[in-house]
Amino acid sequence: MYSVGSETQPTIRKVKRVQFGILSPHEILRMSVTEGGIKYPDIYEGGKPKLGGLMDPRQGAVNRSARCETCHRTINECPGHFGHIKLVKPVFHIGFLMKTIKILGCVCYYCSKLLVSPNNPEIREILDKSEGHPRKRMAHVYDICKRINICENDIGEEITGHIGCGRYQPRIRRQGLGMIGEWKHVDEDSQETTIVLTADRVLENFKRISDEDCAILGMDPKYARPDWMILTCLPVPPPSVRPAVVTRDFSIRQDDITDKLVDIVKANNELELAIRSGENDEIIDQKINLLQSHIGTMMMNHSKRFPFSHHKSGQIIKSIKTRLEGREGRIRGNLMGKRVDFSARTIITPDPNLRIDQVGVPRIIAQNMTFPEIVTPVNIEKMQELVQRGEAKYLIRENADRIDLKYVKKNPVLEIGDKVERNIRDGDLVVVNRQPSLRKEDMMGHRVKVLPWPSIRLNPSCASPYNANFDGDEMNMHFPQSLETRSEVENILLTPRQIITPQANKPVMGIVQDTLVGTSKLTKRDVFLQKEQMMNLLMFLPTWDGKMPKPAILKPRPLWTGKQLFTLIIPGNVNMMRTHSTHPDDEDEGPYKWISPGDTKVVIENGELVMGILCKKTLGASAASLLHIIFMELGHEVCGRFYGNIQTVINNWLLYEGHSIGIGDMLADHQTYLNIQATIQNAKEDVIEVLQRSQNDELEPTPGNTLRQTFENQVLRIIYDAQEQASDLAKNSLTEYNNLKAMAVAGSSGSSITTSQAIACVGQQNVEGQRIPFGFRKRTLPHFIKDDNGPESRGFVENSYVSGLTPSEFYFHAMAGRELLIYETRIKSETGIIRQLVKGMESVMVHYDGTVRNSAGRLLLLRYKHNNKKSCVPDDIL
Ligand SMILES: [Mg+2]
Ligand SMILES: [Zn+2]
Ligand SMILES: [Zn+2]
Repeated sequence: MYSVGSETQPTIRKVKRVQFGILSPHEILRMSVTEGGIKYPDIYEGGKPKLGGLMDPRQGAVNRSARCETCHRTINECPGHFGHIKLVKPVFHIGFLMKTIKILGCVCYYCSKLLVSPNNPEIREILDKSEGHPRKRMAHVYDICKRINICENDIGEEITGHIGCGRYQPRIRRQGLGMIGEWKHVDEDSQETTIVLTADRVLENFKRISDEDCAILGMDPKYARPDWMILTCLPVPPPSVRPAVVTRDFSIRQDDITDKLVDIVKANNELELAIRSGENDEIIDQKINLLQSHIGTMMMNHSKRFPFSHHKSGQIIKSIKTRLEGREGRIRGNLMGKRVDFSARTIITPDPNLRIDQVGVPRIIAQNMTFPEIVTPVNIEKMQELVQRGEAKYLIRENADRIDLKYVKKNPVLEIGDKVERNIRDGDLVVVNRQPSLRKEDMMGHRVKVLPWPSIRLNPSCASPYNANFDGDEMNMHFPQSLETRSEVENILLTPRQIITPQANKPVMGIVQDTLVGTSKLTKRDVFLQKEQMMNLLMFLPTWDGKMPKPAILKPRPLWTGKQLFTLIIPGNVNMMRTHSTHPDDEDEGPYKWISPGDTKVVIENGELVMGILCKKTLGASAASLLHIIFMELGHEVCGRFYGNIQTVINNWLLYEGHSIGIGDMLADHQTYLNIQATIQNAKEDVIEVLQRSQNDELEPTPGNTLRQTFENQVLRIIYDAQEQASDLAKNSLTEYNNLKAMAVAGSSGSSITTSQAIACVGQQNVEGQRIPFGFRKRTLPHFIKDDNGPESRGFVENSYVSGLTPSEFYFHAMAGRELLIYETRIKSETGIIRQLVKGMESVMVHYDGTVRNSAGRLLLLRYKHNNKKSCVPDDIL
């Protein structure tokens, strides 16, 4: 608000505490700069803002040339000042309407005394209990007063300690923007049983409430007295919060609030005139109601209790409440989170040719974003060249002059000490982010690689820490504007530094998708590469030292194995022993345990892949994987490059090998189909046998189960066994060269379950852990006879995805699918809870003295985790 070079600098003080309260009419007057109040419903007079009008020059400058008459600052510097409108008659404040009714219910309508004695034991108890919770205090007191319908006095009766006027109390109800009072019992002197309560009458009543009674009602009379809830003096916000806008046809359109204030001033003036000219009560009441409704709808225009206020065009007027509340309101939309400069956002797409520490920045974005580079003797020539080529946007001289290079006719000559706001270029550091930003992995540092086409490009391995996929996800980029920030990005945020997550101290990134299948295919025993292939592939490996290893096969042609190629990618002398995903457990015993017939034992010795086929277990994001070991032994930089090296080499090898799937990968041979059908047929017969036994009352309940449960368990056992057998049959029919199986084994996509569902049978469908229940009368669907408990009727899908599902099977599958969808949604809603946690703890950080504190400086921990250790760098896990 106070820009550099403004005439006065505010004194900066620390906020000790925040006290909320209601502005008293006196305080509104004291704050107001419009002495005498705003009286005229006009804005301009003779082309200038009118004094005492709605753009009172004392409230702040309206245009660029004028200065504020209160603080003499320009439109950019003056923060704006409140004015006021002196209301002829008091009106209700609709924000406090319900509170007003509550308070009215607690005090005597005639003498303003609290309806219960302060000495009442119940009141005492409430006062003790609600210390520090004023809102609760009022609710409790109201609950007691609700029961009392007379202002008791002690004369005669037993002593209650309450000395009132002894009159009967009305019940107060809300009606539109006002309220009405109803009497059940009437005192002899009053005649009507129902009257409309005017704000005037309520104000008189509230003014008489004593400070002691206020405290009992949960209001501190110093900061909030009940009578301040009735408006007698309306604060008028400064023009800076309700600026006029120039429309396309150059006419000026006033803000909704200004329009509403015009209505209020008019109504107020008319009311004053009516009173002065001695109009009858009915007309005056009408005018008060008009004023009341204008003030009410200015503050709140979204209630069903009173009609909306419209523009002439029919558009609903935006009230003060709508400006403040909601996701796009002032609090959540402008204060808690806001749009920032030097940031960009678009769709993300994968690019395995980028390293994990890089990000592909669209050229259009790179040409719009700048970094302020200081001109030094070292870079002056380069910077001059950038300015010449139009690759810089602004030049800032040492005297803070800002030159827009777009509009200069002759390119300026640079001097040392100048700042050039040059375009973002390759190697610049940026922060990349994907919402919801809950953990540190959601904002990571990347190095820019400017690329054609308009999407942000990420290495596919980087998708997992961001929880991103490429189905249309968008991500943000933030461009640091100082060397300090750049340094922080490089030394703290950079992706390779985030490979190990403190959440589980294991890698968050792994080798994924085609690269993973590729590595799995490459490292098989029967893969050989010719010299030409080998040399071509090694050109994609930046760490290659130029030396070819000795070929595994010399004659008739020199051939290298895939394992030899992978060995060249592995950096340093790492050692590792792991197993392949299909490794049989019984192989690890006996005298021949070092011989692995399926090549499923993975051994890396001195950086050489000696044996074993690589899969997700070795290259995935799991603890003690090859990536983890390389991170721990060789550091983040080497590890980060390792991801990229695997990807470029393997992906290019995969171009030679090829990988695709089709219907052919989902077909088994004829004999297998016959066997699968026979298995399912046998199972069905077995179920019929169990059914018959249960119908003949021959079934014995197993211990702890009812007869029905026993029956269900036996049927399920048979069905699941058959399912498993069919699945095994299908899987065994697939060769090593089935590409569906290759992906499942490598761990990149699909599983043995999805494979056998496509080939053999989809299997039993469940809802709430049971077979499909009888949704109709004694049956699941009308296609079956009643009381059919056989497999087909209760959701067993014997077809495969390839053979196709019958209509009833399809229906059951959809039922189970829906349940899964609901379940997934519930898991997603749990991130909402993490969101709340993060919001609550966002100011917590480790300070330079090693303590963990929040923004209030409150000490939470003396040492982070009590031992000052980050769990992303533990020393004892491998
Ligand atoms: Mg997505
Ligand atoms: Zn001012
Ligand atoms: Zn009374």
